Amino acid sequence: NKFKDGLTKTRTNFSSRVNELVSRFRKVDEEFFEELEEILIGADVGVATVMDLIDELKQEVKLRNIQDPADVRDVISEKLVEIYDNGQESSTSLNLQEGRLNVILVVGVNGVGKTTTIGKLANKFKSEGKSVVLAAGDTFRAGAIEQLEIWGERTGTAVIKQSAGSDPAAVMFDAVQAAKARKADVLICDTAGRLQNKVNLMNELEKVKRVIEREIPGAPHEVLLVLDATTGQNAMNQAKQFSQSTNVSGIVLTKLDGTAKGGIVLAIRNELDIPVKFVGLGEKIDDLQVFNAQQYVYGLFA
Ligand code: GDP
Repeated sequence: NKFKDGLTKTRTNFSSRVNELVSRFRKVDEEFFEELEEILIGADVGVATVMDLIDELKQEVKLRNIQDPADVRDVISEKLVEIYDNGQESSTSLNLQEGRLNVILVVGVNGVGKTTTIGKLANKFKSEGKSVVLAAGDTFRAGAIEQLEIWGERTGTAVIKQSAGSDPAAVMFDAVQAAKARKADVLICDTAGRLQNKVNLMNELEKVKRVIEREIPGAPHEVLLVLDATTGQNAMNQAKQFSQSTNVSGIVLTKLDGTAKGGIVLAIRNELDIPVKFVGLGEKIDDLQVFNAQQYVYGLFA
């Protein structure tokens, strides 16, 4: 189970603390809930989400007349799955259709794992028998084009590029034409992620999006925002900023394997209305998993 391996750090931090709590308390009282609250906040679950969760736990404990702290543990995992699944049953699947060119725009700030995620996605689609084209839309960051080309070689995928510093909208135009000519199934578009000038970055993303929309009605079919799980509240802030200026359809949360605070998944789900579609659980090509609430929660407690 990849989730289980990828969540080792979070599990050690979270689950072992919950177990310790459960074994130390003899009854489920206010103090028990206070300590549980601290553990959850410490795992980056997010204050608002923790408050919701604790309220629901208290209700459930009362309703079921639970006396033994050990029994609360099961209720916690039930509630965690519920919070995540809340109204979003089929949300993890991508809006891809056969018989058309599907365009996925990938956005996010530098260093979050955007290029790696594009490589992993290309690999996933190729393994499903789809033909894939990559667009080197980050013409700003030094090395971004070359890095994408390495993933292109690794996955046997064509990379459409222009020289560094060129207009990303022009790259997208080229990439769409190339993908159409090749009758590709999926076009994955990299974009710039410089944080220094947010207004310019957002304007550039809008322009890139407009070119795609003009060339293919209905596209982009997905706008995936890549966030680094190890950055906690920063990731939340990035999600808020990007979703204010772009229609983000899903989140890819990378480096869950590198944090003991994997609770950020729940905070994002509960505090923003954007589904987490994939999680990155390592640096390797197949370390990308479709997000699954049950497996995730199992990974926290297993
Ligand atoms: P970009 O600047 O957003 O394109 O970021 P990169 O794709 O270059 O990734 C930055 C670093 O994060 C690289 O060293 C990647 O190997 C690493 N990385 C990306 N995704 C993951 C992940 O899910 N887990 C871990 N541990 N590392 C990752």
